[in-house]
Amino acid sequence: MRAGEPDGAPDAVVLPDGAEQLTALLALCAQSSLAVVPFGGGTSVVGGVAPLRGAQAGVIALDTSRMGDPLELDVDSRTVTVQAGMRAPALERHLAKSGLTLGHYPQSFEYVSLGGCAATRSAGQASTGYGRIEQMIAGLKLSSPSGEIALPALPASAAGPSLRQLLIGSEGTLGVISELSLRVRPAPRERIYEGVFFESFSAGAGALRELVQHGAAPDVARLSDESETRMSMALAGSGGLKGKLGRVYLRARGYGSGCIAIFGYEGEQAGARRERGLQIARESGGLPVGRSPGEAWLKGRFAAPYLRDELLTLGVMVETLETATQWSNVERLHTTVGQAIAGALRDGGTPGLVMCHVSHLYETGASLYFTFIARQREGEELAQWREAKEAASRAIAEGGGTITHHHAVGVDHAPWMSAEVGEGGVRALRALKDELDPAGIMNPGKLVGG
Ligand SMILES: Cc1cc2nc3c(=O)[nH]c(=O)nc-3n(C[C@H](O)[C@H](O)[C@H](O)COP(=O)(O)OP(=O)(O)OC[C@H]3O[C@@H](n4cnc5c(N)ncnc54)[C@H](O)[C@@H]3O)c2cc1C
Repeated sequence: MRAGEPDGAPDAVVLPDGAEQLTALLALCAQSSLAVVPFGGGTSVVGGVAPLRGAQAGVIALDTSRMGDPLELDVDSRTVTVQAGMRAPALERHLAKSGLTLGHYPQSFEYVSLGGCAATRSAGQASTGYGRIEQMIAGLKLSSPSGEIALPALPASAAGPSLRQLLIGSEGTLGVISELSLRVRPAPRERIYEGVFFESFSAGAGALRELVQHGAAPDVARLSDESETRMSMALAGSGGLKGKLGRVYLRARGYGSGCIAIFGYEGEQAGARRERGLQIARESGGLPVGRSPGEAWLKGRFAAPYLRDELLTLGVMVETLETATQWSNVERLHTTVGQAIAGALRDGGTPGLVMCHVSHLYETGASLYFTFIARQREGEELAQWREAKEAASRAIAEGGGTITHHHAVGVDHAPWMSAEVGEGGVRALRALKDELDPAGIMNPGKLVGG
């Protein structure tokens, strides 16, 4: 697009207002051989909303923005039912009137739709505490070309394999999620965000593991590696630690080239949970450095991506990618993926800077989020990106990580699906698609290709 080559625009944009129009629209598209690309907030970073027509005669973008109404709030059960095109900020505003929150804050929060989050198994910045989107979904409705599947809100069910979980993450390839029933909770009255320094990425990762395995993980826990820490301190993102004084203090304490972590506690017993968390962090070598780094992060939590276009204009490539792995493999994968990206950039003649942070904790492992920056190869920008992306994806697949922890599959990760779930797994997903979308109109080329 920036090169002035906007090929692949959809033939039309269609905005249905609910399940009834969706059903009629999907039937018409199947009859007329039109591919349908569901479009929520359009924030996919993996080509999820690329208007590919596959084997169809044309392609429409199905914009869900007119399906944005709240439908029912069940305060006793702490669930809210909404049309799936509703944007995350609109839901939070709606829930705030009743003192409730969903607590789903991906970095793209300002734009995302809840249907898009559900379709991509999204994780919010506070998902260590609030859970990922799939843990927040109690029920849903999907309009597919073969008809509607309605799964009511239930606390749990043993009725066979979880159809809910099969439709969550389907990335528009099976149908359009039209409604969602979401688990909500009281909005936090207290929020404590702060910084903790560790001597190294290894020491910090060890501390995060201790925290989560002792049930003391902060709701937000982010550990930057050495190069990301240097960058954020240079950009003064570390608030009160910026400048010479902060660096002198850290050096004097033996943390001169260390790593910063942001810990955030929200809601019930935030103070008590923080005390316990800090105690474990200290025992693992952590140095608390006060609230200003945490508060600075909280204030700028959605801002960094806006830099990307400015950097591209200045001839700087910047890209992010992510994975997750078991604790026993976190440090190894951090090293091998970082080296693979750096190697690809170097081989392409534009040595770059690779940074990483841990952003989501689980008892068994954690996510790794990489950012890389390099001078763009003029006229070869896409080739340069592809080389780095391919090297990273290969290192992830061969190194025991998932090809995506939260960005989803889209077009970019589809070739790596069989490495993740096996040929049999891909065939099973295709069989489900054949049943719900026999004409193959739903989001061709995404998730399982086709
Ligand atoms: C700056 C930036 C930061 C980001 N940070 C995060 C983050 O912190 N965590 C995270 O998880 N992701 C993040 N993402 C990725 C992206 O925001 C998520 O994948 C998000 O869930 C997409 O929501 P959306 O409404 O924009 O979906 P879209 O981009 O519109 O669509 C995503 C996919 O879902 C399908 N889809 C959309 N709506 C529906 C529906 N109603 N029914 C069926 N299929 C549908 C689309 O066809 C597409 O395949 C980020 C992206 C950007 C640009």
